Amino acid sequence: MTDTIDQPRRVAGYAPLTARERRSVAVAAVAPVPGVFVALLPFMLTGATVSSLLGAAMVYGSLLGLAAGFVAVDRFHARQCGRCRERTERRALACAACGYDLVERPRFACPQRHTIYLDEGLCACGRRLAALPSPRGVGREVVLMLRVGGWLLAFLMGVGVLLRLLEG
Ligand SMILES: [Zn+2]
Ligand SMILES: [Zn+2]
Repeated sequence: MTDTIDQPRRVAGYAPLTARERRSVAVAAVAPVPGVFVALLPFMLTGATVSSLLGAAMVYGSLLGLAAGFVAVDRFHARQCGRCRERTERRALACAACGYDLVERPRFACPQRHTIYLDEGLCACGRRLAALPSPRGVGREVVLMLRVGGWLLAFLMGVGVLLRLLEG
C-alpha cells in the first residue's frame, strides 16, 4: 500500500461546451430581442412608433438575453459530472460513467482550503479533509428573478396601456 492509492481525487474543472451547447446558449441570448419586440406590439395601438418599440426591444431584449445566456451556460455546466466531466442525464442521481453522487455532489477540503477534493482523506498538506456544503448552481435564483421581472414588465405594460386608454 502506498500513499498514492489513498490520495483523494481533486475537482475537475468544467469541460468546454460543445458546438451544439454553444449554439443553444447563443439562441437563448438572442431570442429575447425579437420576443420582447413581439410582446411590445400592442403598444402600436397606443401610438408608439416601430422605431421606439425596436429601441425598447434592443434594450430589454439584450438584458434578458444576457441573463438567459448566463442561465443556459450554468445549466450546461450543472449537467457535467463533477468528477469525470462526463455529460449526465437530466435529473440523474449518479454519474453513469464513474458513479459520482450527482444529488449531493460531495466535496471536501482541509481547514486551510488548499484544494477541493471529491473524496474523504488527507489534503496534500497532511490535514484531514472535512465535508463542504453542497454547491448549488445560480440557475434557480436567476430563473426566479426572471419570473419576477416578467410579471413586473407585464404589470407595467398593463398600467401603461390602461393610462393611455383613459387619457385618449
Ligand atoms: Zn462521472
Ligand atoms: Zn491542505
